[in-house]
Amino acid sequence: MRIVLLGAPGSGKGTQGQRLMQHLRIPQISTGDLLREAVARETELGRRAQADMHAGRLVADEIVIEMIHQRLAQPDTTAGFILDGFPRTRPQAAALDVLLEKIRQPLDKVVNLDVPDAEIISRLLARGRVDDTEATIRKRLEVYAQQTRPLLDYYRAEGKLAIVPGVGLVNEIFDRIIAAL
Ligand code: ADP
Repeated sequence: MRIVLLGAPGSGKGTQGQRLMQHLRIPQISTGDLLREAVARETELGRRAQADMHAGRLVADEIVIEMIHQRLAQPDTTAGFILDGFPRTRPQAAALDVLLEKIRQPLDKVVNLDVPDAEIISRLLARGRVDDTEATIRKRLEVYAQQTRPLLDYYRAEGKLAIVPGVGLVNEIFDRIIAAL
């Protein structure tokens, strides 16, 4: 099963991705986690990504595409994977399609967790990660609306999109995702 989790920052991709990983026994791959790890380890890549992350901007496409390329080359992904936080732009989605076509493992399903803006903002303020200040949240929602939301049309056109209401109990949302898959 090869799945992409789409949704605004704070929509619950990470939480549901973890659950799906346990349920389906395939790895969850989060570009946000990979980037935070690179920043913490002070790698070259981490140094390049840090300023963008802290300002709520997207990290350059070529950086995250290369990161995903390397991650998907690991043997634990052969049975499938859950992508969380990638792709976030059209060039990333196009690069992913090319990559997966090359290894003959096309995506099965793209799940969009649908959460109203007001709920997103209160969740992110409650989460309190270093990049969850009011200014960066505003910026990230703007970036989401401009660059990531258009991916819904991209995947709808491919016939792979499932829209799942992302409000309610974590368990209920999880059941909806399983039903959509
Ligand atoms: P959330 O989705 O909850 O906002 P993430 O952990 O997915 O948080 O991402 C945190 C930050 O990492 C983003 O604001 C962005 O700067 C960077 N990032 C993560 N994934 C990508 C991506 N696919 N493309 C560009 N930047 C990314």
